[in-house]
Amino acid sequence: MSKVIYLTDHRSQAADAQALPHARSLPAAGQPVLDTRARPLRDLRISVTDRCNFRCTYCMPRDAFDSNHVFLPHAQLLSFEEMTRAAAVFVRLGVRKIRLTGGEPLLRKNIETLIGMLAALRTPEGEPLELTLTTNGSLLARKARALKDAGLHRVTVSMDALDPALFARMSDTDFPVADVLRGIDAAAEAGLTPVKVNMVVRRGMNDDQILPMARHFRGTGHILRFIEYMDVGSTNGWNMTEVLPSAEIIARIGAAFPLAPLQTDAMGRVAERWGYADGAGEIGVISSVTQAFCEGCTRARLSPEGRLFLCLFASRGYDLRALIRGDADDDQLAAAIAGIWGGRGDSYSEGRLAATPGVGQDRKIEMSYIGG
Ligand code: SAM
Ligand code: SF4
Ligand code: SF4
Repeated sequence: MSKVIYLTDHRSQAADAQALPHARSLPAAGQPVLDTRARPLRDLRISVTDRCNFRCTYCMPRDAFDSNHVFLPHAQLLSFEEMTRAAAVFVRLGVRKIRLTGGEPLLRKNIETLIGMLAALRTPEGEPLELTLTTNGSLLARKARALKDAGLHRVTVSMDALDPALFARMSDTDFPVADVLRGIDAAAEAGLTPVKVNMVVRRGMNDDQILPMARHFRGTGHILRFIEYMDVGSTNGWNMTEVLPSAEIIARIGAAFPLAPLQTDAMGRVAERWGYADGAGEIGVISSVTQAFCEGCTRARLSPEGRLFLCLFASRGYDLRALIRGDADDDQLAAAIAGIWGGRGDSYSEGRLAATPGVGQDRKIEMSYIGG
């Protein structure tokens, strides 16, 4: 295919034009497409909006995302039909798990309709996909039942502190943490289980919440996961001194509640799992900074306006919307995506600590745009 495609960052629609990598022949039915490191395409994250009602300091710092910030206009967002068409093509290429994210995905109007459309997709073997969503929990108490009825399997709720004042400071919102907890309860009652709770840890800011959070969620059936603060985007002023290594988190919790490691799958592995020795459930740690997991990274990311990013730390994405809204049929779309994935060699986290921050790096995409 000789179609010209544009690679852009999300703030600039005028872009350097670049030809797509060569389209590839498709893998045999049921076989995933592989990248240059033999990593299969297994997971797709779809960011459905770049808007959010929180201003978490590590993700959408208010000085960068203030009233002057220009969010994507609705006409530029992929429609639910376009997202579902793209998702079906990704499934042909090996995707078996789809996560909806944002921005805050529950702000996208009628998100249940999209969930219903994605839930109807089938793998080449006739199986449904694993369908999940990451949310800040603010609208969950209201929406959990409808999400479940539409076909969603599980949710991950982001929550960085139990203490109300610290929660407000981390997320820079006056939304009460008690209502996020109510959202978690509603998700569990609706059967969106197990509910995962993600806590981003910033040393010196909310690390004194590690034990209270562990104590609170032990024995509830919810899986609390601690995320190392990452240098995503270019606005959060990330500094390595604020990263609390997962090993230290495990040591702190283990001293209070003894832990034992649990089995983790190698491919697609992100969280390292630990179980409470007394049977009160499990926790996870996501150590993107101190223990890179690029070798098992099987994720592709579709932005709200249809750009395909292969790495969380990328600067530019491939404009799939041009193909989706152009004259490409599904086979051509699949061949284009196979070509993009087939040329992938991403390994940002493996080299992060050796790189000089800011030197030779383009502006990276923001987390609130691509969704993790
Ligand atoms: N708004 C939803 C939420 O907060 O769950 C979904 C989108 S949010 C960008 C997805 C996840 O990225 C959240 O769990 C959030 O905590 C995490 N995140 C955002 N910025 C981060 C950073 N700098 N380091 C680590 N995790 C980050
Ligand atoms: Fe919004 Fe989620 Fe980013 Fe917080 S982490 S600002 S809730 S998109
Ligand atoms: Fe995947 Fe990029 Fe993260 Fe490595 S740095 S695990 S390639 S998203």
